[in-house]
Amino acid sequence: MNFMKTRPVFRPDTRPVLRLLCLILTVCSTSMLQAQVVSNEKYKQEDKFRQLEEALPTPNEFRTASGAPGEKYWQQQADYVIDVELDDKLQKVIGSEKITYTNNSPDTLSYLWMQLDTNILSFDSDAHLTDTSSHLGKVGYQSMQQLLAKETFDGSMKIAAVRDKEGNPLPYTVIKTMMRIDLPRPLETGQSTQVSIDWSYLVNDSQSRPARTGYEYFEEDKNFLYEIAHWYPRMVAYTDNSGWQHKQFLGRGEFTLEFGNFLTRITVPDDHIVAASGLLQNPEEVLTPEQRTRLDQAKNAKKPMFIVTPEEAKKNEASQSTGKKTWVFQADRVRDFAFASSRKFIWDAQGHQVAGNEKPVMAMSFYPNEGEPLWSKYSTHAIIHTLDVFSKYTFPYPYPVAISVNGPVGGMEYPMICFNGPRPEKDGTYSKRTKYGLISVIIHEVGHNYFPMIVNSDERQWTWMDEGMTTFLQFLTEQEWEPDYPSRRGEPRDIVDYMKGNYQVPIMTNSESILQFGNNAYGKPATALNVLRETVLGRELFDYAFKEYSRRWMFKRPTPADFFRTMEDASGVDLDWFWRGWFYTTDHTDLSVENVRQYLLETGDPYVDKVRRKKERDEEPESLSDIRNQKLPKRTDKFPELKDFYNEFDDLDVTDADRKKFEDHLKELKADEKKLLETQNYFYMIDLKNLGGLVMPVILKLTFEDDSSEMLRIPAEIWRLNNQSVSKLILTEKPLKSLKLDPHRETADTQLSNNEFPRTISKSYFQLEKSKKSKNEMQKLQAEKKAAAEKAEPKQEQEKTE
Ligand SMILES: [Zn+2]
Repeated sequence: MNFMKTRPVFRPDTRPVLRLLCLILTVCSTSMLQAQVVSNEKYKQEDKFRQLEEALPTPNEFRTASGAPGEKYWQQQADYVIDVELDDKLQKVIGSEKITYTNNSPDTLSYLWMQLDTNILSFDSDAHLTDTSSHLGKVGYQSMQQLLAKETFDGSMKIAAVRDKEGNPLPYTVIKTMMRIDLPRPLETGQSTQVSIDWSYLVNDSQSRPARTGYEYFEEDKNFLYEIAHWYPRMVAYTDNSGWQHKQFLGRGEFTLEFGNFLTRITVPDDHIVAASGLLQNPEEVLTPEQRTRLDQAKNAKKPMFIVTPEEAKKNEASQSTGKKTWVFQADRVRDFAFASSRKFIWDAQGHQVAGNEKPVMAMSFYPNEGEPLWSKYSTHAIIHTLDVFSKYTFPYPYPVAISVNGPVGGMEYPMICFNGPRPEKDGTYSKRTKYGLISVIIHEVGHNYFPMIVNSDERQWTWMDEGMTTFLQFLTEQEWEPDYPSRRGEPRDIVDYMKGNYQVPIMTNSESILQFGNNAYGKPATALNVLRETVLGRELFDYAFKEYSRRWMFKRPTPADFFRTMEDASGVDLDWFWRGWFYTTDHTDLSVENVRQYLLETGDPYVDKVRRKKERDEEPESLSDIRNQKLPKRTDKFPELKDFYNEFDDLDVTDADRKKFEDHLKELKADEKKLLETQNYFYMIDLKNLGGLVMPVILKLTFEDDSSEMLRIPAEIWRLNNQSVSKLILTEKPLKSLKLDPHRETADTQLSNNEFPRTISKSYFQLEKSKKSKNEMQKLQAEKKAAAEKAEPKQEQEKTE
């Protein structure tokens, strides 16, 4: 999902509740972490480099300690044959499916669990009942519409029949967004079973009941555009680490699904164009000869080609056809299936050879004329660019098509197909935000094919595993689109405000309990991976390890531990401190250069050292008392006989004894020891403090007296004995003028003022504003009267010009 549209707005009045929630979560997460913290009341410092093994699940034959799938790794298989009709009169989905479920687990299953995720759109869904609200003040018309629709629209799934292979009814129980089917005989390991389900439901109007699926109604031409997802009863995942995934759908935690093959027959009005997960099996039945020719030409086209032109789509809008057509699609090795249908669709396509692939991929976009001129210009280009860049960092895109659809859903991903919202204004102009919003959301949603559609993490539990990784690769992809592409997330400096705030929970928090969803599950993990790549591991090591993770878990089901372990296993670097800090805590980076002390080597020669010390003493500033006492008469002036040897003796004068002692010392020294006395280096002790808690590498720019500079990169392990303050001795050949921590802002350091030594005066600008006096009620009334009078008697000249 893309989180641009639904960014949470912070409402002050919800704060007590949220604070309480925050408190509970903090307690939970710290107690979980405390299990691994060995109490040390004396040293009072947490061990930020303690190994994560104690927090991660014990490796086993399914998942190894290296983070790879184990020797006995298994996952279930769910194959679907689905017949579905989209009723354009009632906006209704009527379906019938046959699921072949294969139990590859070592366990015997006496029942199956299904997800009925459209039940989230019933009046009594947990999502609706547990939704906490803020006060009602000014409410937008659309918000009011949505508020009422929650009480009146029932989009839940009506189950008509559940049968076994022979057609006998099977007992089933619907529990909110899930359904249990009791099997007549337990399903043993290695066995398959077949279940058939008939169902229907009303599609939600995206205007009044927005979701990850829905229809859009176009008043002007009286047409519908459907984006249909989580529309059929889907097998709940059964895994080695969680058993059945029992978390109900509350709206945020997305989907945890099984891989399988789909044969889907979609019946729609015969003037509709359908886009779907998978390859179209019957083009000769649903496309015109001209469309088929164009589609064939598009396979080798150098740029996107229209299969349905804007003019044809416009013409189609006026159609009143009552016939039906069935579009047949086959999708293999997918975890889900989604489709879109409308008579308003323009369709463009371009075949593209992704490096490392045997067959070309067909990149396609479907959009109404309302999406023009933006969509034909950018959508298919953005798909192809995404496939190229994501494949480079993971694995070659394995599916035959990649589709981007414009409709009412702001940004949502499914296998091979995604729904993206941005459109230009009615006059065809668009803002910079809309342009880049469109390119970015397409990159993001097409990118989700890799995470979680192929690297099949548990979205309902860990949002960061798909959103964070996709947002990270989205950043890399955007930066390869054009120079200085305005990416919203990825650069460390962009996460600073979030990282220093209190209203947050660790990344390792269940999807439904996350505070500041976009920052927590998208921005922070994406930034963390970028920091890991640029600052901690370097591009070569990171890219190797990340690719290894992607390939190990391609078409499999990784957990966070598998990711953490693989990244260490393949890079050869202990990163437990990094996962612990960035993923398990809310610490932030705030390193400070507190002080820099210079040390000079004494020569031992009294003619050098004592003379210098004397000079230093003599140059010491006089105290105020000394200055004021100078004029006071002294007793020794009055009685000179009180003076003796010590009144003349200066213990910093060089004596014969000093000279002899030095000569004797030199005689004792070996040649190489004598050489050390002549060392020309400068010794500096740099005192560093860690104020934010997060242990991070120390990146220092050293500027010398001659204005030359040098970078010093110290690994985070500098903090392993003391994670609050350390002193680092450095040797330089030239005298140092100044120091700057993190000059390229690569560590998300939240406070820049303490990064420099010596400190500099911070600069910012302020503005002058002229105060505006608002009209009083009498003045407003007079103005209204004047305007009304002018309207009633328009001036003669004005009439002429009109
Ligand atoms: Zn997403």
